[in-house]
Amino acid sequence: MNYNYTDTIEYLLDWYDNNARILPWRENPKPYYVWISEIMLQQTRVEAVKIYFDRFINTLPDIKSLAYAKEEQLLKLWEGLGYYNRVRNLGKAARIILEEYNGELPPDYSSLLKLPGIGSYTAGAIASIAFQIPEPAVDGNVLRVMKRVAGSFDDITKASIKKELEQDIREIIPKERPGDFNQAIMELGATVCIPNGKPICMKCPIMHLCKAYHNKTEMSIPVKQDKKARKVEDKTILVLEKSGTYYIRKRHNEGLLAGLWELPSLEGKLTPLQLEEYLKNQGYSDFNYYSLGEGKHIFSHIEWHMTGFYVHITKEDKVAEESVYNSDISLNEAWVTKKEIDEIYTLPSAFEKYRGVLENRD
Ligand code: SF4
Repeated sequence: MNYNYTDTIEYLLDWYDNNARILPWRENPKPYYVWISEIMLQQTRVEAVKIYFDRFINTLPDIKSLAYAKEEQLLKLWEGLGYYNRVRNLGKAARIILEEYNGELPPDYSSLLKLPGIGSYTAGAIASIAFQIPEPAVDGNVLRVMKRVAGSFDDITKASIKKELEQDIREIIPKERPGDFNQAIMELGATVCIPNGKPICMKCPIMHLCKAYHNKTEMSIPVKQDKKARKVEDKTILVLEKSGTYYIRKRHNEGLLAGLWELPSLEGKLTPLQLEEYLKNQGYSDFNYYSLGEGKHIFSHIEWHMTGFYVHITKEDKVAEESVYNSDISLNEAWVTKKEIDEIYTLPSAFEKYRGVLENRD
């Protein structure tokens, strides 16, 4: 252990007792609630998660209902949260829990770790918060806080550094309050020892133990190896409208936004002339259109730089009409109303700007 965190325990727990935010999954830390909230909280702020959490739990109140939910329903409940494999894995894990664990999350760390979508952080969070098992739950918040406290310039993007910290915490985590201890560090990281901008050290309960504070290195820690620059892809997004319905299609089953519905996204930024040519090739013989302007969406490794067009189709040849008209969700493409998009189909937030144009129609 490079730094003995034992002295921090009492201060963190005292601070947590007086400062923990009231959150629905904390009020009632049922294993199912802890699981759903922890998966939602990956990559998403607490404030944004609250609304999603309430809606998810009201719709699918237990593991059995989650196991039986259709993928389209799960995706719709997740719409806007991104990283859609998270919710697909929730469904898969629920089915395993139903078959192998009698519908209850297993109360042990290694069994939790075997479930789809549950890594060491989530297994530790569920084990410690829901079952009071003394396991660490090390995420980005915890790495940042603990590396600052230790004054360590370790590169926190390395898996070995995370493992090392997990082991350090495993050795000192208080057996009587493991869940509160893990949550205290996370909470400190979210509200005081914040990720972007200067940490609010004057409000920190462990300031007197923090090496980064004493060495004035808090803004240089944690160290993260330079990430590769994101790949930029140009796209043209089309809002195709015909008699009050809109064309959507399913993306490929692999790669970015795999298997999700989209407004047609074409490679490159099309000029008006190229757009007209494309539309004619698709069998649309009469249409008018206008620009929807530029947009940008950032994924973890890719950036989409987009331009968009609204296309009102007034005439199409027969072949195209037969091949694309259908609003059956089992198909890969459909002409649907705005209401159907709102209620049934999941459009990822990458399309939000262009989907927004539908708000004043229908
Ligand atoms: S003293 Fe400052 S840098 Fe150190 S843990 Fe507290 S908030 Fe973070």
